[in-house]
Amino acid sequence: MKNIGVVVNGALGRMGQEVTRAVAREAELKLVGAVDKEVFQQSLPLADVSYIVPLSDDIDSLLEQCAPDVLVDFTNAEVCLATARIAAKRHINLVIGTTGIAEESVAEIAEMCRTYKIGAMIAPNFSLGAALLIHLSQIAARFFDCAEILEMHHNRKIDAPSGTSIATAKAMLQAHGKPFTYPDLGEEVVRGTRGGQLGGIAIHSQRLPGFMAGQEVVFSEMGETLKLRHEAISRECYMPGVVLAIKEVVKHQELIYGLDALLALE
Ligand code: NAD
Repeated sequence: MKNIGVVVNGALGRMGQEVTRAVAREAELKLVGAVDKEVFQQSLPLADVSYIVPLSDDIDSLLEQCAPDVLVDFTNAEVCLATARIAAKRHINLVIGTTGIAEESVAEIAEMCRTYKIGAMIAPNFSLGAALLIHLSQIAARFFDCAEILEMHHNRKIDAPSGTSIATAKAMLQAHGKPFTYPDLGEEVVRGTRGGQLGGIAIHSQRLPGFMAGQEVVFSEMGETLKLRHEAISRECYMPGVVLAIKEVVKHQELIYGLDALLALE
């Protein structure tokens, strides 16, 4: 069977570097090209890869040259949408790990799938542990009326709260069937101390250099709390999810949202 050709956009970033290595290691995949905005050489330096991987800052001509089956994007929300438009017109399937994508952009990407008959996967979090945390939070959300989310990330993260915390809160609200009860304390002496709020769920974002990524969901009723906590210790944790998404997305002609959709968690 032919290998699935992959181009990575944002290839020189923290996630992009990890993804290019993971794709290059995977027998069924072939890294056929890489894109980033600031490139100083024409090929991607990769250990243990015997062939040349073209590297460019011009995505359209690189896609023309490499004709991949899948484009993987780990850049930022603005670049990601522009990239998706370019790739979709070329009938290239999309795997999007970039976070902070607006709902109307998600809808536009779903429309691209219908128009160009391609598959797209958007996952704000590709780690298995995070997908399980969301799933378990949905179960707990049926039984508790108060909940808060504490999410912690490295201090270079540009958006807050994290895409994962928003996805978790939305999944919890769907399972709960109504807004959670948000204890109203009256005056907030230091503004923002109670965090942001989504459907009665307070979300607190910590940004510190020592963190990578993590999240704790706390459920509570009178006299008890239930805490579910996930920590990503290295970016390797996202790679099985990204590789699975690349292999699956080529079999679909629609948008798949969230890694959980591929994990048969029910
Ligand atoms: P980063 O800043 O290290 O990397 C982003 C890369 O995109 C950089 O190399 C930058 O040069 C490149 N870039 C910017 N503009 C570009 C353009 N116009 N064309 C091509 N490349 C361009 O960031 P990161 O930590 O790798 O995170 C990237 C994204 O992935 C963020 O949105 C982050 O929140 C998200 N993320 C998702 C997951 C997940 O599991 N889905 C996990 C971690 C991070």
